[in-house]
Amino acid sequence: MCRHLAYLGPPVTLRELLFDPPHSLLRQSWAPRDMRGGGTINADGFGIGWYPDGPTPVRYRRAQPIWSDPTIAELAAVTSTGAVLAAVRSATVGMAIVDTAAAPFAEGRWLFSHNGVVRGWPDTMVPLAAELPVRDLLTLDATTDSALLWALVRDRLRAGVAPARAVAETVTSVAAAAPGSRLNLLLTDGHTVVASAAGHALSLRATPASVLLASEPHDDGPGWRAVPDGQLVQATATDLRQQALAAW
Ligand code: GLN
Repeated sequence: MCRHLAYLGPPVTLRELLFDPPHSLLRQSWAPRDMRGGGTINADGFGIGWYPDGPTPVRYRRAQPIWSDPTIAELAAVTSTGAVLAAVRSATVGMAIVDTAAAPFAEGRWLFSHNGVVRGWPDTMVPLAAELPVRDLLTLDATTDSALLWALVRDRLRAGVAPARAVAETVTSVAAAAPGSRLNLLLTDGHTVVASAAGHALSLRATPASVLLASEPHDDGPGWRAVPDGQLVQATATDLRQQALAAW
């Protein structure tokens, strides 16, 4: 199962955030510690989204292992940012391995990632997908469960639903339609981040000026705490709230 993270806080280089820590996202791509639910490594692609200047993020996504891309290692060393969403992917069996299947998925100021799997894909998702505009289905980033989950969250955001509710409602409706799914979602606009712990590991490290949510802690140091299953975290760099996910 994929590993993902979101960071909000004082500017750091992508290298400090993604490559340098002892158990960084880079290391989690080939030596993850907690791959509950299948998969052994996260070698089917990766993606990084960040906010260089203003509200619109940029993305770098590839269908190859993050360790095999020398370009991103060079860029990461010279790219500083105060808001990041990044993921390494272990494709669910049968799902496409293409650049566009790697998180983050994006629209406008939003970046989104899914760590997990929708059980019974695609049949279990037919009723929920049928409620989306046909155009959204024809233009999915990829024919994967994660891309459809993004379309479901995005549909709510476009309708003006607040981000925490958009994530919570999507988790609840997908879990009802596809029991046994693993639905750790991450959503950010560069200012606020929302994360669900729903079937997968999620850890959190907050300081007075920053928040880092990650599938696995980046080191054995103090400050990390596990987010219990069935929780929804909503945070800015300086504020953190946690609530139970309905019906998880
Ligand atoms: N099922 C999703 C995919 O194949 C996410 C995979 C994951 O969490 N490993 O892209």
